[in-house]
Amino acid sequence: MASANRGQRPVVRVHEGYRYEDGIEQIGRLMARYDALRRVEIGTSVLGKSIAALVIGNGPEHIHVNAAVHANEWITAPLLLRFMEELAAGQESGAGPESSGCPGRELLDRLTLWAVPMANPDGMNLSQDGLWPACPYREQLLVWNGGSDNFSGWKANIRGVDLNDQFPAGWEEERARRGSDGPASQDYGGSEPLCEPEAAALAGLTRRLRFSRVASLHTQGREIYWNYRELEPACSEALANRLASVSGYKAVKLTGSDAGYKDWFISEFRRPGFTIEAGEGVNPLPAGQFETIYAEIKPLLTEFIRG
Ligand SMILES: [Zn+2]
Repeated sequence: MASANRGQRPVVRVHEGYRYEDGIEQIGRLMARYDALRRVEIGTSVLGKSIAALVIGNGPEHIHVNAAVHANEWITAPLLLRFMEELAAGQESGAGPESSGCPGRELLDRLTLWAVPMANPDGMNLSQDGLWPACPYREQLLVWNGGSDNFSGWKANIRGVDLNDQFPAGWEEERARRGSDGPASQDYGGSEPLCEPEAAALAGLTRRLRFSRVASLHTQGREIYWNYRELEPACSEALANRLASVSGYKAVKLTGSDAGYKDWFISEFRRPGFTIEAGEGVNPLPAGQFETIYAEIKPLLTEFIRG
């Protein structure tokens, strides 16, 4: 029987070299500890790895947070998993917002939160491990990576497609702006929108559940992007300002960017969508920054789910 984690060490911890399999193992342990969490498969990666959603809440309003869309922004995966762990612990202990800093049962009777912590499983492992012995696309990956076997700067999926340039919102404009016409470590949007299974999985989930708001966790810069071509609803800016005030991050109105997940969400649903650039430094951010960044992201995500 699951119980709240009072007095227990958190399941979600990090180390240098944290990989997709570490995240999956922690999801399994969270499921064993907390009855409040459900796991749903939303798709599979190019190499057949499960893209898992962790779900909490029983409300009719569905909201969504994803992470690690960009391969070397791995630290966002455990950031989101830790947040889910604390939500689940708060649910099961009955702790309200005052005692835990996390939303209590009342909110999660109204909402269902769908978290996809590792949206780019193959890319995450490539960035963390480099090429492994049986890695498919091995020769191509070396070429796409400019001849280097150091993949720590890799953001794309295993086919060299930048998943945050894959969405059908100004996709052609983004392609022309990037000037990237073939697979690469970043900025190549693919042969057509949503041709990669990881991006298609996020789009499919979003269309099925028609989320009322979404956030996508990236690193780095301590910024919040909230607009897209004046298509966002009026409430987006105010919510971004609240996310900024609780986290110390800066709400930024961005122009000259298309084809990202939040861009597409805003253009298709005309509802609030955010890209959160967590932490500060050079990607991949080191594991040693995890607790510092989590202290900023926890109040930000708490405010996001309150809406
Ligand atoms: Zn990113």
